[in-house]
Amino acid sequence: MTSSVDLDLWLKVLEKIERGLPRGQFITWFKDTTVLGREEKTVIIGLPLPMFLNWHLEHYRGLTLEALKETDPTIEQVVYQVDVGLKDDLARTLKLLEHFPEKKRGRKLPNKGEIKLAEGLVSKILNSRYTLENFVVGPNNRLAHAACCAVASQPGGKYNPLFLYGGVGLGKTHLLQGTGNAILRNQPGATVLYTTTEDFTNQVIEAIQHQKMEQFRRRYRELDVMIIDDVQFLANKDRTQEELFHTFNTLIEERKQIIISSDRPPRELTILQDRLVSRFERGMIADLSQPDYETRHAILSEKAKEYGLLLDEKVLNYIAQYATKSVRQLEGILMQAVAQYELEHFVPTVKSIADIMQKLVADDPALAGQVGFEPPAKHAVSFQDVLEGVSSYFSVSVQDMLGQSRVREVLIPRHIAMYMGKKFLRMSFVRLGETFSNRDHTTVMHAVGKIENKIQEDAQLLRELRTIEREVGLAA
Ligand code: ADP
Ligand code: MG
Repeated sequence: MTSSVDLDLWLKVLEKIERGLPRGQFITWFKDTTVLGREEKTVIIGLPLPMFLNWHLEHYRGLTLEALKETDPTIEQVVYQVDVGLKDDLARTLKLLEHFPEKKRGRKLPNKGEIKLAEGLVSKILNSRYTLENFVVGPNNRLAHAACCAVASQPGGKYNPLFLYGGVGLGKTHLLQGTGNAILRNQPGATVLYTTTEDFTNQVIEAIQHQKMEQFRRRYRELDVMIIDDVQFLANKDRTQEELFHTFNTLIEERKQIIISSDRPPRELTILQDRLVSRFERGMIADLSQPDYETRHAILSEKAKEYGLLLDEKVLNYIAQYATKSVRQLEGILMQAVAQYELEHFVPTVKSIADIMQKLVADDPALAGQVGFEPPAKHAVSFQDVLEGVSSYFSVSVQDMLGQSRVREVLIPRHIAMYMGKKFLRMSFVRLGETFSNRDHTTVMHAVGKIENKIQEDAQLLRELRTIEREVGLAA
């Protein structure tokens, strides 16, 4: 057995592996790895930590072996060996961040890359990260996803055109590209064009300028699949709309597939030409809405896995609970956590995630409303929230608390609610008295005083209060 580290081989292999993995995963799981040696057809890969072993065996063995074989066809097998000495050992490992700088392959692929399908026919490169398989299905997107699957298995079939609509960051582009990827996988020879409305408009303008409109039309009509993202941006672009209309007609007549996305349904695209809108309406229309808690949770788990981040269940729950509006936002939080993990080996906690969310909101206050961050301390708590919190903690109805009953089970919760109204919401004794069936303000004063005294000596009560405060969102 030769036991010399082979960094040249490893660098070549890593270059291949890197192309097939999200950057976060690549950096996290291939840092401080190396080729420890070779025994005939077997390569020994060194890993810096025991916890890497299972992860590599489960997730990266196939990919690694493939890359090894591609680099050196005599290799047939890979085995792993943990060597804790590899950590930060620059003589035996590669500095990944240097060899694979960020810009070379952004974590969020910016989709800048283009591919020329033919003379005068340019498509954006489909991002291989977007697939129909890794799209998490929930009640908010089930129909859209099913329609995409149907189109992928039978392009130009029943659902033509396929029109997807929904708000920002809910997965339109993911589904569009995932469908394109799937079609290309099924029919590698198909001509699939994916374009944004902006790019398409630029193409039209260019063709007009160079008087190549005829050629432009001919080219587009040779497509098998045309995917066009964000058609709401066609507003006020009459000439582009006209070209698109004619292209659509030809393609549909020839049973070629068209897939469109927009931020709103066709009938609300009032700024577009009617005939184009009615074209859109003639196929299948499906919407994407905001994911519910369970779907957000599932998406997060999926993404965390993709980025190679092991997240505590509590942390997942926390993000899923408070980032409610857009999937992109969920991802944004996750990316920050991944960065912390990569740079500082900091494993995310509920507290660190809450800090990230607070910071995102602080950096851009508009976000708070738009994107649905509701970290507990941020949103204004009403007295109704207090009543409901106390009510559910003590299993006493709000009505009973506000009412006249003097049974013991109701008294303590009632007094606590009064105390919290006073202490946290700064309600006046008079106002509180009115709220509680028009009691006299001295009664309220008395009750609040009682609780104040009690918590001086009753640790149990203090703990209960803290719990309620947290549930209600009065404390972090
Ligand atoms: P849109 O085009 O609607 O603005 P995107 O398709 O760009 O949204 O989605 C934003 C991000 O959220 C992408 O990274 C995408 O992969 C992710 N995403 C959205 N919905 C889902 C889902 N259901 N499952 C997995 N990832 C999703
Ligand atoms: Mg999009």
